[in-house]
Amino acid sequence: MQTINRLTELRAATRAIKAEDKSLALVPTMGALHAGHLQLVEEAKRRADAVAVSIFVNPTQFGPNEDLDAYPRMLEEDSAKLRAAGVDLLWAPPVSEVYPEGFATKIHVAGPSSGYCGGARPGHFDGVALVVTKLFNQVEPDIACFGEKDFQQLAVIRQFVRDLDINVEIVGVPIVRDADGLALSSRNAYLSAEDRQAALALPHALQKAREAILSGGDVALILSDAQKAILAAGFANVDYFALADAQTLAPVSALTGRPLRLLAAAKIGKTRLIDNLAVE
Ligand code: AMP
Repeated sequence: MQTINRLTELRAATRAIKAEDKSLALVPTMGALHAGHLQLVEEAKRRADAVAVSIFVNPTQFGPNEDLDAYPRMLEEDSAKLRAAGVDLLWAPPVSEVYPEGFATKIHVAGPSSGYCGGARPGHFDGVALVVTKLFNQVEPDIACFGEKDFQQLAVIRQFVRDLDINVEIVGVPIVRDADGLALSSRNAYLSAEDRQAALALPHALQKAREAILSGGDVALILSDAQKAILAAGFANVDYFALADAQTLAPVSALTGRPLRLLAAAKIGKTRLIDNLAVE
């Protein structure tokens, strides 16, 4: 595995891959890698001849009072995991390489970025769109793999890739969970043992709500009961617990015959967790 942190070197490496007529997949991450990230790598390996993984904690997607400084950084361990997984290229640029002095461009995606995490974290998806567009221009992959764990993010990425005619195939990968059902997340490392246990209320509430909705229950009531259950388990607050059209993310209040998705975000202690579940 080649580890690269300068754009000129990256261009040389991707040129070499393309010169061999190999297809290239990109897996963008912020590091602190877990089995969820490695599942994206596996999917990328299945779909392309060569795999690049980026590790970049992107400052433009963090709000002023969020965990940018605290976000776990462990490049050496991550690098060992990626090498063992058979990754060809690790792109780990410093912030100055991605946002050099004088950087002045923004991207704003409307549509699927409004509401949910977009409402709770103003500017977050603009930062995601900016960095993912830059990563695509830097790495020039044929395909890119993203987790359904960040379901709204995936919808936003599909939207701007379509809107801006970006020539990359976007692949969504199902959520990888711990054995007890908690979705894997780099932020789970922040949880105390007690909060880690209480956090299970989030996937449990999603499962319960899914079953109740599919049995024809009243959606508004089910969503409000789910929020109450999450708060009763010890969460500090629920940002949202919603039922949405799986493609447009427009909120829905009853089964529509189209694929739906339950979407939730809630804070336990200082840690904000997100999760979601298909309702089809
Ligand atoms: P992050 O490092 O948190 O920015 O995540 C990088 C990529 O990994 C994103 O596409 C995430 O959706 C994906 N990802 C994170 N956690 C999981 C998970 N538990 N299952 C599947 N994909 C995940």
